[in-house]
Amino acid sequence: MKRFLLSLKLNLRKLILISTIISVSCLFIVSVFILNYVIKEQLIQNSLSVNAKYASKVATSADQHFDDMLKELKYSADLLGQDFSNRQLTEEEAKRLKNQSSKFNSLLIVDKQKRIVSFEPKSLNLNTQILYKTEGITESLKHKTTYISAPYWSVKHNLVVLLSQPIYDQNKNYQGMIGGSIYLQKNNLIQRMLSTEYDFKKSYMYVIDPNNRIIFHPDPSRIGEKILNNNRLDYMVSTQTGSVRLINSRGVENLAGFAYIPSMNWIVVSQQPTQELLKQANVILLKVSVGMFIFYFFIFFLVWRMSRFISSPLNSLAKMASMLNQPDIQDKIKQIDPWYFEVLKFRTSLLLSSRTFSEKITELHQHVNTDPLTGLYNRRGMNIFLKELVKLNRDFAVLAIDIDFFKNVNDNYGHDQGDEILKTLASFMKSNFRDEDICCRYGGEEFIVLMTTSDFKVAYNAAERLRKTMEASNINSIGPITISVGIAFWPHNSDEVKEVFKMADNKLYEAKNRGRNCVRH
Ligand code: GH3
Ligand code: MG
Ligand code: MG
Repeated sequence: MKRFLLSLKLNLRKLILISTIISVSCLFIVSVFILNYVIKEQLIQNSLSVNAKYASKVATSADQHFDDMLKELKYSADLLGQDFSNRQLTEEEAKRLKNQSSKFNSLLIVDKQKRIVSFEPKSLNLNTQILYKTEGITESLKHKTTYISAPYWSVKHNLVVLLSQPIYDQNKNYQGMIGGSIYLQKNNLIQRMLSTEYDFKKSYMYVIDPNNRIIFHPDPSRIGEKILNNNRLDYMVSTQTGSVRLINSRGVENLAGFAYIPSMNWIVVSQQPTQELLKQANVILLKVSVGMFIFYFFIFFLVWRMSRFISSPLNSLAKMASMLNQPDIQDKIKQIDPWYFEVLKFRTSLLLSSRTFSEKITELHQHVNTDPLTGLYNRRGMNIFLKELVKLNRDFAVLAIDIDFFKNVNDNYGHDQGDEILKTLASFMKSNFRDEDICCRYGGEEFIVLMTTSDFKVAYNAAERLRKTMEASNINSIGPITISVGIAFWPHNSDEVKEVFKMADNKLYEAKNRGRNCVRH
């Protein structure tokens, strides 16, 4: 896992971007899911409510019409009851009721023997001499009261619903009935009321009677059919008014609103296939999703820009962490703007580390260039300064110093005492010469001083001063230890530094030969 992550070469910026992509995508997906649910739920609730209101409105208006029709029939029935045997009166009433409005498709006045005494329209050509035993006539005469039939096939092969009122004479003797019929499959009142322009998203209306028979349906072939497989029909019939999600006889899920028509004992249903409505939801969802996507993309773009701003100082510092040995690294670190906490901390600790690092390097340099016993420069240290002096073209004197009869000291007092004398001489050298003069231990008990002077006298005096100091000392009661010094000058004696050193050595040899404890130049 760790290897895999490393192989991805991740950095802070990539991580910010990856986490942004993940979070923005999750947010987007969750939002789309929630929106999908909310939009669909809202549309469904709206549709149920609209269908319920629409069904209720249609039911109220239909009820008013049917109530009026029953009242009109009742009025005629009362009138006919006063003089039922008057054929002219029955003819006139039938004609009036049929023609004063287009509510009834046909009008019948039937006596109690099931004989049709008057009818309209005359085009029906009914025989007034025979007895009619249609379901409507038989049932109406049997009930002897206000009667609304179930749909049935009339003698003229029309699927009809009969609305009838009983005719009683003044002595409350039953005489027959007057009935108006509605031809369900032809142009009729219900059709005119329900077949409106209202067909939003495939919504449609139908009417059922208490026996689940279809009184009205936009598909005329279904009128009169008994509904069998509608899973919520019983609920609608028992509840009478409300809304419900149902699966219709064709297996299609619908959102239905329904209402009761009291005068006819029918139920009006206004319904819409759920899928048709949800198609609309998908269009809305798509539009909203596109809007959201643009918004989230904009956020991603902002984070992408910000990620650079956030990661760049850390990235620069991380790169610098591996370059702490560079000479100008501290200046580079200081250039990073620490605008947030982690960068500030990282920058501070990197500065500290680089300082420690450079101190360590200096210390290491010193170790390499310094003689551990005396603390003076060794040959390597001296060479650095030599090169620098030549490069800067500064005149200098080379003082070659050697302790006289040092072997004897070692032999007589031991190596440790010898080392003590070397250290003491080194400390005398340090205080005898100026800071800019370079004192070094050239090897064993031989020392070199590079004095930045071309003045013989200055060099000589300094050497003499050291020689005298040494002569006057009595280190660890060993007695006076003396030194011999040879001096040569660059570039006075030679342009070649090597030659100058050789000359200084020769002068030292000369001093030894002259009896030691002296300075020669
Ligand atoms: P002179 O120079 O006067 O001719 O006599 P010398 O006895 O000093 O002779 P030389 O310079 O040849 O001797 C060098 C001696 O210095 C040899 C060695 O025993 C001693 N010596 C060299 N390095 C060290 C050191 O680091 N510590 C000690 N204690 N002795 C050293
Ligand atoms: Mg020597
Ligand atoms: Mg010596």
